[in-house]
Parts: sequence; C-alpha cells; structure tokens
Amino acid sequence: MDFQVLKDSVYSSPAFVLDEIEVAKVLETLADLRAQCGCKVLYSIKSLPFSAVMDMAKPLVDGFAVSSLFEARLADEILAGQGSIHLTTPGIRQDELDELSSLCTHISFNSLVQYRRYSEAAEAQASIGLRVNPKLSFLHDDRFDPCRQHSKLGVAIEELSRSVCLDQIQGLHVHNVFSATDFIPLIKTVEKLQQHLGIGLAELEWLNIGGGYLFGQIEDHRPFVELVKKLKNDFGLDVYIEPGKAVVGRAGYLVATVLDGFISDGETVAILDTSINHNPEVFEYQRQPELHEHDPNGRYTAILAGCTCLAGDVFGKYHFREPLEVGDKVIFKNVGAYSLIKANRFNGCNLPDIYLSNSLRVKKVKHYDYQDYRLQWLAD
Ligand SMILES: *Cc1c(COP(=O)(O)O)cnc(C)c1O
Repeated sequence: MDFQVLKDSVYSSPAFVLDEIEVAKVLETLADLRAQCGCKVLYSIKSLPFSAVMDMAKPLVDGFAVSSLFEARLADEILAGQGSIHLTTPGIRQDELDELSSLCTHISFNSLVQYRRYSEAAEAQASIGLRVNPKLSFLHDDRFDPCRQHSKLGVAIEELSRSVCLDQIQGLHVHNVFSATDFIPLIKTVEKLQQHLGIGLAELEWLNIGGGYLFGQIEDHRPFVELVKKLKNDFGLDVYIEPGKAVVGRAGYLVATVLDGFISDGETVAILDTSINHNPEVFEYQRQPELHEHDPNGRYTAILAGCTCLAGDVFGKYHFREPLEVGDKVIFKNVGAYSLIKANRFNGCNLPDIYLSNSLRVKKVKHYDYQDYRLQWLAD
C-alpha cells in the first residue's frame, strides 16, 4: 500500500480504503488451501458486506456465510445461483423462514427448540444442521467468547450427543474463536467433537468449522490441511470454513484529517474528521487501532480524538516524528472488518467515502450524502 498516495488531497476525507491486492492475496491463499485439502470456503459477509469484496470473492469461493434475511438476500443477489449460502443465527423468525429456506442452501439451527420448531418446514429446500457449542473457550473476554457461561450460541455438546440422532440432520456448525493465529483451538475442538459424537459424525454430510482463523497470517497451514483431509477421509464429510476478518481485516484503511489541535491538561489533543462511530469496536472493546504514522520513538505525542460530542470518542495516544498540524492526514490500519458495517452517523457526521485501491489507481466507489442521512430519519 502506498500510504503517501492515500494522503493526496484529491481524495475526500474521511475515507475508507480497501486494498484490492491484499484481498486478492488472502483469497488466493484460501483457494490454495481449498486445492490442497478439498475444504470448501465461504466468505462470511457480515464483516464487510460490500459488493466489491463479494464480487472479488465470488469466483474463488464456494459461497457466502450469512446471519440474517438481509444478508441472505444480498448474498443471493451477488451469487446469482453460483454458490452455497450458509445461515446460522440465534434470531430466526417464523415469518422469514420460508424465504430463508429458499435463499439458503444450508441452515444451522442455533437451538434444539428452533430445530424442532422449524426444521420440517425448512428441510424441503435447505440442508439442515445444528450449531453445536463445544464448550471450549479460547478467548478470555466474555464479550466475544461464544463458549462463555450461559452462552446463547449453539446446542451444548453434551446435550447434542444425548438428544439428537445425527442421522436426522445433515450437518453441524461450530464457531468458537476470534482472530486466531494458529490452529490449536481447531484441533482441540474437533477432538472434542469426536470424543462426544464418535462415529456418529459419519452420519453427517457436512461440518462447518466457522470463521475466526486469520488464514493469511498463519504461516504453517499443514495442521489444517491434515485435519480436513482426516475429516473427509474418516467420516466422508464436506468441510466448510467461513472466514470474514481474514479476508478483509488487513485490507482496510481509514484515512482521516486533523481538524483541530490544542493542549488539554498538558496533553496534545488532535480532533479528526472521523470518529469512533466509523470503527465502533474501538469503543466497544476499548481497543486502540494501529496508526500508520505512529512511531514508538517519536518525540511528539497526541491523543487522537473523534469529532462527536461524546467525551470518550477517543482513538488513543500515539507518538509522532513531527508534530501533527491541522490539515494533516492520518491512516488507521487493519480496520477492514467490523468497522464500516457497524458505522453510524451519530451527531450527523457523514459516513466515510469508500475507495478501492490497487497498483494502478485509487478509485472512489461509494459516496454517502445528506440524502442518505435524511432518508434514514424522515418518517415515511
Ligand atoms: C462472525 C462469524 C464468522 C466470521 O468470523 P471472522 O472472525 O470474521 O472470521 C463466521 N461464522 C460465524 C458463525 C460467525 O458468527
């Protein structure tokens, strides 16, 4: 990525820039894995349901993973019949079941209650599975640990092995990590499934092992390849993965401009033309995003703050080689996933324009304006 180019004044600010080369690189890594072990790859569109990403992914993946009716409709519109659509959600609604079953090729019910209530109606059109909760925690923050106490996600594994004959369903879905950079959780999870379900796994047609692994940042894919081969060989399973953040996380940049700078209780504060509302996980998880200009040895420091009225709308304190000036641009890195999709127009601050970048050009592909804001807030 040419950072200097992103700072060119011809581009609007704030801007969300997606590096097509990085997306393509990860998609190729995934396609390579697919060729090596025969796993099936779905792009989990919830991380960034932007058509440009889905269009790039479409020829290289087996389909998309979705969490709702709107995602299913969008996935269907882009795929146009050229791939699978897998759904799992704790929020299935009776009034959407019909349409969901016709749009989705695979549905994993989140609870036995939902399975018993809806599977009969859905199975005429979709392949039916259950989301299983393996009760194995690899995350130490309850806010994003699907296996936390009293989890709402999936049928507890002991309950599954007690109450369901696996010959009644076609598949299982498991998803229990976030941003994992090795396959140890996956190996332990599959071990636990085998312990509890044993040869019953051979009754199934497919196993979806979820998202959460950063395939592009894991050096050694051999444990994964071996595991998938073994699952296919021992149980005759189609094995699906559904990465989201792995595909778009590192490809996304947020470019912002300094609007103001002043000293507050002895610290320099720089106000940006973006806010944490363009990357809400900064606030939700109190996580400081990476900044391209940050130099740990830089002599100058500034607290980068958003432009809304919320006192806690702050990205964090960074070090710089040169003092920040009004009009300077700064670039947050590694913000492709779960940023724009959660973004909002709080305080009436517009959403960033979206740009695509490759080695030849940086191109604006989406602009939001006052009409979008107005349409959202005027009554019908
Ligand atoms: C969020 C989610 C994914 C994608 O997770 P990433 O961490 O973005 O790879 C896949 N499957 C399920 C069920 C999810 O909830």
